[in-house]
Amino acid sequence: MNLVWFKNDLRTIDHTGLSLASKTKNPTIAVYCFDPKQFKKDRFGFKKTEKYRAQFLIETVTELRENLEKLNITLFVVNEEPEFAIPKLVKNYQVERIYFQKEWTFEERNIIEGVRVNCPNGTSLIETFDQFLWHPEDLPYSNYSEIPKVFTNFRKYCEKQVDVRPIVNKIDAFPNENLISQSTQIPSLHDLGLSDFEIDKRTAFPFKGGENQANLRIEEYFWETKNLQYYKKTRNGLVGKDYSSKLSAWLANGSISARMIYWEVQKFEKDVIKNDSTYWLIFELIWRDFFKYVSLKHGDRIFKIGGILNADYDWDSNEHTRKNWINGTTKYDFVNANMLELSNTGWMSNRGRQNVASFWAKESKQDWRIGAAYFESLLIDYDVHSNYGNWIYNSGVGNDPRDRIFNIKSQAERYDESGTFTRLWLQNSLFD
Ligand code: FAD
Repeated sequence: MNLVWFKNDLRTIDHTGLSLASKTKNPTIAVYCFDPKQFKKDRFGFKKTEKYRAQFLIETVTELRENLEKLNITLFVVNEEPEFAIPKLVKNYQVERIYFQKEWTFEERNIIEGVRVNCPNGTSLIETFDQFLWHPEDLPYSNYSEIPKVFTNFRKYCEKQVDVRPIVNKIDAFPNENLISQSTQIPSLHDLGLSDFEIDKRTAFPFKGGENQANLRIEEYFWETKNLQYYKKTRNGLVGKDYSSKLSAWLANGSISARMIYWEVQKFEKDVIKNDSTYWLIFELIWRDFFKYVSLKHGDRIFKIGGILNADYDWDSNEHTRKNWINGTTKYDFVNANMLELSNTGWMSNRGRQNVASFWAKESKQDWRIGAAYFESLLIDYDVHSNYGNWIYNSGVGNDPRDRIFNIKSQAERYDESGTFTRLWLQNSLFD
């Protein structure tokens, strides 16, 4: 028996583990664990996963289960730590091989190790990288230590040397007998210790989780509106769903892959138009890869206060400053509007994220890890590498060669010239 262990790769298309399992022609089951560790409070007092991302995850796993069922694969969904749930499945179903996406950050490594230790001897754990645009084996460096510190050097060199791999072939459905009757339930927000909420009408992210939903967004942003062709001009926007692709949340939990987006852009360039904007979406996906490589290169240093530079700054941790930042009551309306957007929706634009991070870490000199942990809790699209990579970058302990501090006032004047965004969050009531 094969077991496909789904983590942040919640899709049935372009999925290496699923494809390897299907090639063996052996019976195959699948599992997703809502890990209680992910819903506890962290050391700064924030829930590791707040309601917005939890809801998106519930929707994603619901679609995954339906899509797997069409392939005659049963998805067990458990509200239990993988370290215990997976060995039980292995024993109950005589699983010989477990397929899953390779991870290397601290918490993820510990979980995989826990699974390994608790599984019977002889169980094969088969891990594959499936979250990159450029596969690690295709990189033109002999080891990760050679990856440049500066993004532009990384991008320019790799763009010449690396090809994006084709999409992994869609698997054929298993025979009907592969389906197993089982009664595991997808938890509700309440089961996860979170409260229900109504979607804020002002949200710039009015989307649902799941691989079909990710494809619908591609359909809309690329093919129906053709907004992709203007992306480079609109990407610094703040209001509405179409200033940027909004693909990050699906990418973060793997309900779409970076490769799938890349190949869709190639198709768009052939069928509609190839311009700066179509290139720029790929450029941003390369940033995403870059932060994954930064964390592969530097390991757990991305979580340390001194970051990858081992910098020794005098960080503060002031309760009053923290409350003002989180509640949107700082001296800057622009920061406040962005922070209110985050707490009311789980979303913030890239422009907003850079400004509020710079305000927190650079201007207020507060421990950047608290800011990163707050983002981790709230963001629908939280991704460990992108979040911590961007936070260290914006806090002066990462890869920014210029070590900039944002002038919030002039940023607000430039990107929210008419004040529409600031008014939206500071003046409008929630559900009008
Ligand atoms: P688009 O502008 O349409 O870009 C397309 C894709 O490129 C995105 O979906 C994303 O996958 C990738 N991308 C774009 N910008 C970046 C970037 N700076 N770093 C890495 N990848 C990028 N992104 C996350 O996905 N998860 C996070 O937890 C996260 N935390 C962040 C924290 C801070 C302090 C900052 C400054 C940025 C963070 N970002 C994070 C990066 C970026 O803000 C979001 O990826 C982007 O706003 C998502 O919107 P979009 O999908 O419409 O992006």
